[in-house]
Amino acid sequence: MDTVLLKGKPIAVGIREDVAHRAAALPFDPTLAIVMVGDDPASAYYSASIERAAAKVGVVTRLVELDPSIGSETVARAIRELSQDTLVHGIIVQQPLPVGIPPAVVEQIVPGKDVDCASTYSLGLLMTGREVFAPCTALAVLEMLHGHDIALPGKHVVIVGRSTVVGKPLANLLLRKSERGNATVTVCHTGTSDLTLHTRQADILVAAMGRPGAIRGDMISEGAVVVDVGVNQIDDPSSKKGYRLVGDVAFDEMTGLASAVTPVPGGVGTLTTALLLRSVVVAAEDASTL
Ligand code: NAP
Repeated sequence: MDTVLLKGKPIAVGIREDVAHRAAALPFDPTLAIVMVGDDPASAYYSASIERAAAKVGVVTRLVELDPSIGSETVARAIRELSQDTLVHGIIVQQPLPVGIPPAVVEQIVPGKDVDCASTYSLGLLMTGREVFAPCTALAVLEMLHGHDIALPGKHVVIVGRSTVVGKPLANLLLRKSERGNATVTVCHTGTSDLTLHTRQADILVAAMGRPGAIRGDMISEGAVVVDVGVNQIDDPSSKKGYRLVGDVAFDEMTGLASAVTPVPGGVGTLTTALLLRSVVVAAEDASTL
């Protein structure tokens, strides 16, 4: 069987062009506040990559770096002030938050600026299909499938991973009674007995586990579509940086077996930032009509 490589770039290019066009049409700069509490290296790397991508499409970023020693009340107040700031249209709070800063600080983001659907309220809206913005990674999976003409209605999608950031919201979106949903969804996790029994039943398998290469060739059925959300850093002395990024899927084992597979890097992750910036521009457009 030929295995199609589902690349993110061609879809991301289209989204970025649309975002740049819409940003340029606004009478003010669409602005994203990136809140970073502490100095987690992965968060710093992700923030820098958002800033670079934003600059290319005319979205202004405001990096708000906070020292965890200021305490959770002060962090919450800073986020609340961004929610009230009319010059800010989107807010993301980088995760993981340091010890002592509870995840509840994200409840201070108003839904209209919650461009990655982080607060409980935004997630509740998502559950009922009335969200302002969906989480970017879950949305990236849908955009990836849609952009490659892979239909969802009637398909059995098996998601491995039940996090609030990826697995759960994705399951929710896939269950929608719509052209971009209407799938039958199974969600697996570490408590699932006989994971392979489930993954082999997938028409579309989504791996969001954070476990390098955990989905092996013998865990999928021939012809399945495999979407790899995982981004894992593994040591690689042969590379200049000393490490490389791999997904949750043993990519080489999918060739000739899956009908399509997303690469890592160059797959879902490529779309996530483009979709985040699109949400910022949508939030700014909404603000301009108020
Ligand atoms: P997470 O919060 O650590 O959740 C991982 C989930 O996978 C959990 O539900 C866990 O089960 C499940 N899991 C882990 N090992 C498993 C196993 N052996 N069998 C079955 N289930 C297993 O991670 P996350 O934030 O959802 O992220 C998942 C991956 O996606 C990571 O690699 C992350 O870097 C990547 N990611 C990528 C993007 C992107 O833009 N491409 C964005 C966000 C995250 P339990 O609940 O039972 O522990």
